[in-house]
Amino acid sequence: MADSVGRLDMLVVGAGFAGIYQLYKAREMGLSVRVLEAGDGVGGTWFWNRYPGARCDVESLDYSYSFSRELEEEWVWSERYAPQAEILRYIEHVVDRFGLRDGIQLNARVASAVFDDERLLWTVRTEAGDVLECTYLVMATGGLSIPQRPQLPGLESFQGRWYHSAQWPKEGVDFTGQRVALIGTGSSGVQMVPVIAEQAAQLTVFQRTANFSVPAHNVPFTETALAAAKARYPDRRAMGREAITGQFLNANTKTAAEMTEEEQRAELEYRWRGAGGGFRMLRTFADQMSNLDTNRMVADYARNRIRGVVKDPVKAELLCPKDDLPFGGKRLCVDSHYYETFNREHVDIVDAAAHPIIEATARGVRTDEREHEVDAIVFATGFDAMSGALKAIDIRGARGARLSDKWAHGPTSYLGLGIAGFPNMFVVAGPGSPSVLSNMVHSIETHVDWIARLLQQARAAGVRRIEATQEAEDGWVRRCAEEADKTLYPRANSWYMGANIAGKPRVFMAFVAGVPLYRRIIEDVAARNYQGFEMA
Ligand code: NAP
Repeated sequence: MADSVGRLDMLVVGAGFAGIYQLYKAREMGLSVRVLEAGDGVGGTWFWNRYPGARCDVESLDYSYSFSRELEEEWVWSERYAPQAEILRYIEHVVDRFGLRDGIQLNARVASAVFDDERLLWTVRTEAGDVLECTYLVMATGGLSIPQRPQLPGLESFQGRWYHSAQWPKEGVDFTGQRVALIGTGSSGVQMVPVIAEQAAQLTVFQRTANFSVPAHNVPFTETALAAAKARYPDRRAMGREAITGQFLNANTKTAAEMTEEEQRAELEYRWRGAGGGFRMLRTFADQMSNLDTNRMVADYARNRIRGVVKDPVKAELLCPKDDLPFGGKRLCVDSHYYETFNREHVDIVDAAAHPIIEATARGVRTDEREHEVDAIVFATGFDAMSGALKAIDIRGARGARLSDKWAHGPTSYLGLGIAGFPNMFVVAGPGSPSVLSNMVHSIETHVDWIARLLQQARAAGVRRIEATQEAEDGWVRRCAEEADKTLYPRANSWYMGANIAGKPRVFMAFVAGVPLYRRIIEDVAARNYQGFEMA
C-alpha cells in the first residue's frame, strides 16, 4: 500500500479501538494508510491487560463502536460488562469484518517520528528499523499503555515469579496453592483480588491508598434482554452523546441541597443497588464533583457500605478511603465482590502507607515492618498515563522541536487534537480532551470523525500543512485548567494529575467539563473554518 519509498498519506500509531477506527475511516476517505502496532496482535489495552478478572467497567453496549448499525446488530455481548477476552474477540471481529487486517503492521513499536518542514512529511522509524514517510501522523497510542512497575530493589533476587497486570502472559497464570502478594488497589487490583483469591492459598494485598469502589452488578445478558436493548440502540447512543461521560448514566440534575434528606438517601440507595451501572454513583447529585459537602455525603455513604460488608473492623477501616480523597477524585473502581473477598480467611490486607514496601527478597516482599513470604508478586501499579505513550516516542516537530521538551511541564494541546509546533499530527482521545473521563470508544469515534472531516476539507482546499497555533493552544490549556479547578478532581493524587509517577508534573490532564460541551466546542471550531489551526 505504500509507494516505493514507503510513503503513505497517513500513518497511525496503535491498533487499539482508536487506531482500528482511524484505519477504517482513512480507507473510506481513499487515503493510503498503515497502522503500526507494538504488540503481536491488535486490541491495544485489551491485548495487553489479560490479568485475571479483567473486564470493562463501561457497559458493553456503550463501550463498542457505533459507526456501523450492522455491527451493532450482529455482535452478541454475553454480559453487561464484557470480560477482556470477549472484547478482544470483538476487536478481532471488527478487523476482519471490515477487511482491515492487511493495513496493520504488528510487532512495529514506533521509536521516532520526525517532521520535515521542507517536504511536509513525517518520517517514522520503528524499533525494528523500518522507515516510513507519511503526510499525516495520527497518534492512537492510548491513555494507559506504559505500565509502571515500582522500582523495587531486589526484585531480581526474588525466587518466585512476578507479573504486571498490563503485561500478563498470554497463556495465563495458575496461582493454585500459591502464596501471592498483590501490590496496588486501583481498578486492576480491585478486579484481580476476588479472582486470584479463588486459586491462591494465601493472598496478601498491599494497599498504599484506599480508593472508592462500587459494585458492578454485572449480569449475563439473556437473549430477550439483549434484543430489547438492541431495539433501542439508536436512542441509547443518542442519550450517550448528550451524557457528560458519553454513556447514559441517568445523571441526577438536582444538587444535594435541592433534595430532602430522605430523597438524598433514596438516590444513594438506588444507585448503589445497581439500578444502573456502577458509574451511576458518580452522578448521584449534580454538584457531587464540585461541592465538597455533597461529595462527602456520597463518600460517607460508600464508607458505610464497606463497613457493612467487611466483617473484620480493622480490615474495614483500612479499606475505607480517607477523608482527603474525594469520591471519584481518583478514577472510581467498579468491582465484583472485592470487599467481600476480605472476609475470606486466606485474604489479608497490608497498610503499605504505614509500612512501605522496602524491597523484594529472595522469599518475598519486605515492608519496613516485616518480610512477607510469597511465591508470586503481582504488580497492579498502573501506568504513566495519558502523556506517557507519546513522550516515550522521540517525536520532533517543526524546526526539530521535541515533544518531550515541550511537554516537560505537562501535556499541552489545542482541543486535545493538535499540538502547536507539530504540524499534520493529530492525537486521538489523549490529554486535553474528555478521553479517560469518558466512554473511550465514544470519544475515539468523535475524534476520528472530526479529524476525517478536517482532512477532507483541507485536501479539497489544497491545504498541505495544518498546525494548531500557539495562541489557540495556550487558550485551550487555560480553559482545561479553569474547568478542572471548578471541580474536586485536582484535590486527589490521581494519575489524571500525573501524581502516580515520581517527578511527573502535576497537571490535570483531561478536559473535565463533559462530552456534550466538548463536542459543541470542536464542532464550533470546525464551523469557523478550523479556527485556531493554521492551514497553508
Ligand atoms: P492505578 O489506578 O494507577 O492503581 C495503581 C495502584 O498501585 C494504586 O493503588 C497505587 O497506589 C498502587 N501503587 C503504585 N505504585 C506503588 C508502590 N510503589 N507501592 C505500593 N503501591 C503502589 O492503576 P490500575 O489499577 O492499573 O488502573 C489504571 C486505570 O486503568 C484505571 O483507573 C482505569 O482507567 C483503567 N482500568 C480500567 C479497568 C476497567 O475498565 N475495569 C480495569 C483496569 C484498569 P496509590 O494510589 O497510593 O498511588
